Amino acid sequence: MEKVLKKVVKFGGSSLADAGQFRKVKDIIMADPGRRFVVPSAPGKRFSGDDKVTDLLLATQMVSAEGGDWQSIFAKIEERYNGIIRELSLSVSLKDEFDKIRAAFAKGCTKDYAASRGEYLNGILLANFLGYEFIDAASVVFFDNEGNFDPVKTNRVMGHVLESCDNAVIPGFFGSNAKGEVITFSRGGSDITGAIVARATTADIYENWTDVSGFLMADPRIVKDPKPINIITYRELRELAYMGASVLHEDAIFPVKMAGIPINIKNTNDPSASGTRIVAHTEQYQNEYIITGIAGKKGFALINIEKDMMNSELGFGMKVLSVLADMGINFEHLPSGIDTMSIVVAESAIKGRERELLSKISALVSPDNIDIEKGITLIAVVGRGMIRTQGTACRVFDSLAREGINIRMIDQGSSELNIIIGVEEHDFDGAIRTIYNEFVS
Ligand code: ADP
Ligand code: ASP
Ligand code: MG
Repeated sequence: MEKVLKKVVKFGGSSLADAGQFRKVKDIIMADPGRRFVVPSAPGKRFSGDDKVTDLLLATQMVSAEGGDWQSIFAKIEERYNGIIRELSLSVSLKDEFDKIRAAFAKGCTKDYAASRGEYLNGILLANFLGYEFIDAASVVFFDNEGNFDPVKTNRVMGHVLESCDNAVIPGFFGSNAKGEVITFSRGGSDITGAIVARATTADIYENWTDVSGFLMADPRIVKDPKPINIITYRELRELAYMGASVLHEDAIFPVKMAGIPINIKNTNDPSASGTRIVAHTEQYQNEYIITGIAGKKGFALINIEKDMMNSELGFGMKVLSVLADMGINFEHLPSGIDTMSIVVAESAIKGRERELLSKISALVSPDNIDIEKGITLIAVVGRGMIRTQGTACRVFDSLAREGINIRMIDQGSSELNIIIGVEEHDFDGAIRTIYNEFVS
């Protein structure tokens, strides 16, 4: 008999947005006895313009903190869940849970607690619908008192708890600290919970179910019908996820990579599509294209510094970066020339502090010129195939030049796995389409 592979299945917000989606999810889970551990997100958008429950919860928290009418927003959230209960004729009521959450809002709860209730409540409903055990993530996912995820304790406790479970629903996105307070991952963090559960249960596969048939070579909101990526390495995927391909949270890679568990991205609305498989090595698979994918992110600034003979001035770069470190500003890239140095930072990191930053750098290194250019977007062209192919960077630059797109910054990682370019915001979509067409069409 064929061995049943142990699978952890995570379903995203749109996969669980209403009763109809819950039915699809149940069919998927029941079709494979290996799908034993289920990680749900909070209900997402049912149609464009709809609200995500997580956003409604955060709005409730904000309005209650300001002393406004939060009850009416909370009523919308209750109705989302009650609608699902009614339509699926579930044998569970959330009345007591709603009362507890309402009391917490009235007392002034944290943002993390508020946001976490979306997956918590959805987990209770899904467990009831599936006939699976419900395990509160607060009892198996742990953070330290600085709010950092604690992988060692989590793996130990979760591994132990789930060992004695045939099947269970563990809500995504949150856990707790030693004080018993609820802490969330950053937005989109249910992907991380799924990866943690896969590791703790030594799953054979981590299936991540969403609303697209796998990872596409570019964001489908920018490129029309981009080609799917059948197979991709953890490293390529992390580059793309970090740079804005939001299908999978970039931090969801670590737990499964560590345990060598492949991820399969699948489509809840088209379960028979093969999706994207994410693995450690792909030697046995030939990629059809030189590049694997393109992703991009908005909201960066370039700090441009010029000084003659900068290169021969010992410690120049270090002094500049020490200003950033002192001000607690992370930098993303550091493209530099002989007499110029540019630093790419997130606009949000320097907001309201531009003047202070410029004057501190000027005082320390006396540049000939220094300025900050905002409205920069970064585009990453990623692919293991680029390592052995000459002229890839040239093709990227030539194609953009032909379209009259001005490149503001270039950076290539020494791994040759990616080329990062900076363009102005109005060129963002056009640049992604141009690069896609150059390599794919
Ligand atoms: P979920 O709610 O299931 O976690 P997300 O909204 O987080 O789903 O991620 C899926 C979405 O990611 C898709 O609907 C798509 O709009 C977007 N997306 C961005 N870049 C890509 C890409 N390269 N390939 C596929 N989808 C992408
Ligand atoms: N519900 C959370 C969010 O909207 C987490 C997730 O969906 O993964 O960010
Ligand atoms: Mg997501």
